[in-house]
Amino acid sequence: MIPNNADIDPYAPELNYFECRDCSTRTTSETRLTTCGACGGYLDNIAVPRE
Ligand SMILES: [Zn+2]
Repeated sequence: MIPNNADIDPYAPELNYFECRDCSTRTTSETRLTTCGACGGYLDNIAVPRE
């Protein structure tokens, strides 16, 4: 499942956040992902610790 950006809950600490370098699609996963589900591009982990 690939949620829309608006569907991402930024407060879910158990999820990793990824953003595609090619199409900027964002997705979440409990496991590490490296490939965009939309275009097959490389996903960056964009999770940032909250201070
Ligand atoms: Zn993509």
